[in-house]
Amino acid sequence: MRITNLRILPAFATQTGCAPTQTEHDDDPVLPAEEARGGAVRVVWMGTAGLYVTDGDTGMYIDPFVSRYGLLQVGLGFRLKPCRDRIDQWIRKTGGHRASAVLVSHSHYDHALDAPYFAAKTGAVIIGSESTANVARGTMLPEEKIRVIADGERVRIGKFTATFLKSVHSPALFGRIPWPGEITDPLRPPARASAYREGGTYAIVLAHPKGTMLHYGSAGIQPDLFSREHVDAAFLSLGGRKDTPSLLTHIIAPTKARQVIPIHFDNFFKPLKSRLSILPGVNMKEFYQSMSAFPEITVTTLSVGREATLFS
Ligand SMILES: [Zn+2]
Repeated sequence: MRITNLRILPAFATQTGCAPTQTEHDDDPVLPAEEARGGAVRVVWMGTAGLYVTDGDTGMYIDPFVSRYGLLQVGLGFRLKPCRDRIDQWIRKTGGHRASAVLVSHSHYDHALDAPYFAAKTGAVIIGSESTANVARGTMLPEEKIRVIADGERVRIGKFTATFLKSVHSPALFGRIPWPGEITDPLRPPARASAYREGGTYAIVLAHPKGTMLHYGSAGIQPDLFSREHVDAAFLSLGGRKDTPSLLTHIIAPTKARQVIPIHFDNFFKPLKSRLSILPGVNMKEFYQSMSAFPEITVTTLSVGREATLFS
């Protein structure tokens, strides 16, 4: 195993609640001029399972979530709303103001709360489950900007092809899937976290001529899910996973991923600040130790808010 970028040094600070963030980096665009980068596929990690992915021509967000609320606010059932100023900051930061799509793995609030606002602000189409569609409808996003996908469906987005594979959510809350079930009606924020029902979870395989990546938004295990899909890089959510060997057996080995990038291990009840804290219960040591048995696999830990070239 080669471990790269192990230091977690986010360039971006935020505060709990919707107060605008003030740091000297706020308006620094992450990405240099598109034409200078020759079509490489690049990613910016936004904390949790949130990514911005672009090849210079086409950009998209996956599970973008930056309205981080404290554990008490979530646990006590405070009504949450997307923090629009912070979303605007992240759109500037990632350079995603012309994003084509917002892909959503499932409709828990830490994946779907902000997604319609990223779509509304950029003109992107939001793509996900029927529950995710109802999150979008609750924000008055027009129906032509909402696409409901089915298991195995492929969506062309520029040179990218996204394949949605029905997977399972991790049993992240005392051995159970938190807030299971569907969102059956348009969900208008502010709303409690518990209103953002899981709505089915999808693994997203994103293929591009430069390389293929997997976004695994929740660490549940669905045996034989990847019997046909091979990827170069796997973004794996670590929160709520059973253990790393199960990820190796059921995701990394069958997809033949040679690069693994952990996501969704940060404590999203805390603001993104100079040093990320780890989500309680997520054993990073076990992850790195388990991965060290596979020297052919590169483990890359991204810094929040910093561009990384995925496929050059
Ligand atoms: Zn979830």
